[in-house]
Amino acid sequence: MDTYEIAVIGGGPAAITLAKILGKKKRIAVIRPEDHSMIYCAMPYAIEGLISVEKTLKKDTLVTDAGADLIRAVVEQIDLENKRLLLSDSRTITYEKLVLATGAEPFIPPIPGTALMGVTGFKTENDLSAIKKFITMGLKKAVVVGAGAIGIELAQALKESGLQVDLVDLGSSVLPNLVDREMTDELEGEILRMGIDLHLGAKVVSLEGSTWVERVSLDNGRVIHFDQNDECTEPEGLTHDGIVIFAAGMKPSVELVRGSAIALGKDGIIVNDVMETSEKDIYAVGDCTQYLSGITGRVSPGKLATNAVPMAKILGLHLLGQGRTYPGFYNGAATKVGNFFVGGTGLSERIARQEGYEVVTGFSEVTTQFPIMPEAKRLKVKLVADAASGRLLGAQIVSGEPVTGRIDLLTFAIQKETSVRELTDLSYSSQPYQSFYPAANGVVLAAEDVLRQLS
Ligand SMILES: Cc1cc2nc3c(=O)[nH]c(=O)nc-3n(C[C@H](O)[C@H](O)[C@H](O)COP(=O)(O)OP(=O)(O)OC[C@H]3O[C@@H](n4cnc5c(N)ncnc54)[C@H](O)[C@@H]3O)c2cc1C
Repeated sequence: MDTYEIAVIGGGPAAITLAKILGKKKRIAVIRPEDHSMIYCAMPYAIEGLISVEKTLKKDTLVTDAGADLIRAVVEQIDLENKRLLLSDSRTITYEKLVLATGAEPFIPPIPGTALMGVTGFKTENDLSAIKKFITMGLKKAVVVGAGAIGIELAQALKESGLQVDLVDLGSSVLPNLVDREMTDELEGEILRMGIDLHLGAKVVSLEGSTWVERVSLDNGRVIHFDQNDECTEPEGLTHDGIVIFAAGMKPSVELVRGSAIALGKDGIIVNDVMETSEKDIYAVGDCTQYLSGITGRVSPGKLATNAVPMAKILGLHLLGQGRTYPGFYNGAATKVGNFFVGGTGLSERIARQEGYEVVTGFSEVTTQFPIMPEAKRLKVKLVADAASGRLLGAQIVSGEPVTGRIDLLTFAIQKETSVRELTDLSYSSQPYQSFYPAANGVVLAAEDVLRQLS
């Protein structure tokens, strides 16, 4: 029986981060079943052929060169009392400390027909390979359910691959967790310009077919039909020309601990600010956990690699005896919709109001370069502030150029509890190729817009 100081269940970014921090200092095992860990964020770009599938696969040496053992198996059972794990290959390993980094899986709503062939989520190497294979076999149509970042990136990739694509979301605007309604008009226009059929305010109520999915019914009465695929001869192959892909959110992978003494919340395993669960010597990090907003202190969504990695860093340092605590989710994130780059951080206006804040918003519109430069593109900023304190609560940007630099700046401002008054003092840089004129800065202009309303 193998014994480890630390056993980590999982092979995603959280587990790999722990291997990197602890591999040379502790006897540590990383246990995951897949042939490869994946760069999930890059999966849509492998669908459209911009990069190969191989480029989305991480090398095992990320774990093994760091000094950790990589065990390829499913953990089938945790024996908390005896600190033992039972693996799918019948092996047992013992641990001193256990880390749950089991991630999350696509949420498939409980509607009729989701077990039909041709219905999938979008997370694993198998999902990616199957979709690529279906495209090669003559796939013509795809219905993507969910117009969040993953759904939109996937819909664009499928469209680029020559498919007819329907993108369905029950919300009234796209990217509802990233940006507010007034930032999305041109994004929705861009989705339509790309030739994707966008169904907003529409809910998928059932999938029908005999073995393969043949029809997708929406609650507005619309039915999307897939035709018989005459070209396909493979017995296990594509019998109809369409597939349905759910990108409608993620749910934590916590079945392994459900019913155990480890406390669970609605969104995952409950942990404190050093990632301890309710059970001694058991920790959890990443998408399998439920955590709090760094702004409100209340439970917040946050299933992002950019949350999973910092959580794992905090735990790694804690296990090395270095006292750091996790500040919570701020949820800075970004995506690309056609020619637009889009980012959001902190609370949107909608969420801030739901959380009970009285909110003031400010806008600015400048260009990404001096407007006299030939490549200048529009840059639109929205800031959300607490009316009572003037504290910056959230920010959103839509631009013709990448937004992550500005989004990260604004996330840091939110983390540091900056007021919009302070943001108006931001000292910025300017150069014809890289910014608007020195006379103005998009973030400062939007902050001044908020300040005008506050005073
Ligand atoms: C298509 C797509 C695009 C994305 N794009 C972005 C992006 O642009 N930016 C961003 O920040 N985030 C993005 N994300 C989210 C990001 O990938 C996740 O937040 C991140 O992977 C979470 O890391 P994790 O280590 O917590 O869990 P995961 O990466 O989900 O890894 C969980 C691991 O646990 C293993 N496991 C589970 N149960 C067991 C068991 N019983 N035994 C053994 N192993 C087990 C799994 O097999 C897996 O290896 C994207 C996700 C997807 C699917």
